[in-house]
Amino acid sequence: MHSQIPEPLRALVEQLARLPGLGPKSAMRVAMTLLKWPEAETRRLGRGIHDLRDDLHLCSRCGGLSATDPCAICKDDTRSRDTLCLVAEWDSMLTLDEGGFYHGQYMILGGLLAPLAHADSESLDLDRLIARLEEGEVRELILALGATIDAENTASFIRNLVRKRFPQIRVSRLAQGIPLGAEVKYMDRETLRQSLQYRQDI
Ligand SMILES: [Zn+2]
Repeated sequence: MHSQIPEPLRALVEQLARLPGLGPKSAMRVAMTLLKWPEAETRRLGRGIHDLRDDLHLCSRCGGLSATDPCAICKDDTRSRDTLCLVAEWDSMLTLDEGGFYHGQYMILGGLLAPLAHADSESLDLDRLIARLEEGEVRELILALGATIDAENTASFIRNLVRKRFPQIRVSRLAQGIPLGAEVKYMDRETLRQSLQYRQDI
């Protein structure tokens, strides 16, 4: 970075440049834009970032981000409690739920097994899943982990685990009309609806 850049600006640009999709150049562009904003708006953005950690919680039931614990979905009594849909990340749950065709519960696994990236079963939220299944309400576990190699491996791992510890629970997965490599969060509503409707036992 140019040596003439004042320290407060340099510090901000260095932090912004760590965000996904932003390198040093675009971080500088963002910082310059912020400087041109009305002061009230810049302060509101800053406050939003500052308050994020205080106001946002992880739902203790599903592991999703929420302003309340439990989250609105877990709290919703009209949703059936015997179907649990397992997704890799929270934004996949958002995509699925936006469709409005699934009325069960969700759980967020917190990632996928990815041996090449050294992500093993320790990095997944298996304790939460096992605790939920031990409650005895869930009759079907739907794996909505996507169709990548990592998702396939993770699905087999979960299926084996459930089969061993909870043989009475049906394990299914989204139908494989989904193009290989697709991530749940990027799927369109109709594809998702069909792949849920035609889900297959594994
Ligand atoms: Zn929840």
